[in-house]
Amino acid sequence: MNEPSTTCLQLGDPVLRCHALPVDNVAEKAIQATVTLMQTVLTASQGVGIAAPQINVSKQIIIVASRPNQRYPNAPLMAPTVMFNPTFEAVGTELEKDWEGCLSVPSIRALVPRFKTIQARYINVLGDLEQMQLEGFVARIFQHECDHLQGKVFLDRVDATVDIIAESEYLKLFN
Ligand SMILES: [Zn+2]
Repeated sequence: MNEPSTTCLQLGDPVLRCHALPVDNVAEKAIQATVTLMQTVLTASQGVGIAAPQINVSKQIIIVASRPNQRYPNAPLMAPTVMFNPTFEAVGTELEKDWEGCLSVPSIRALVPRFKTIQARYINVLGDLEQMQLEGFVARIFQHECDHLQGKVFLDRVDATVDIIAESEYLKLFN
């Protein structure tokens, strides 16, 4: 395992383009330390989600932590949830476009098509399998973070480059 980073890796770092490995044992010390650091980095950066590769750990760990803040004024509130080995299936075929940003792609926002409703599966912090249906913004975060585990970023998903804008312009949309 690489040495975890206390700041988010930035686009261009090869680790962000790797396929992350599954977690075998959620109780392992190095895994727990990774989760703690992910929580710290996420809180400090006002993110709504983070994936382990963003802190230089190529393991299948994500945190989904939707809450309204300066970066996402309209986000719904959800308790931060740590998820290991997450996967999903689309429920229906409906795609929805909405704005996304990424701690690894600073100062940029883009309109990204995502499945509106998904059936999500992951291993929880106790090592048990969880399944749940997610919708809208939370489903969007989950899909964004799962992409990080496959070496993808949100910019890879835009329909057209005109859908990519500066964060300063995005923030004007809410004022
Ligand atoms: Zn991201």
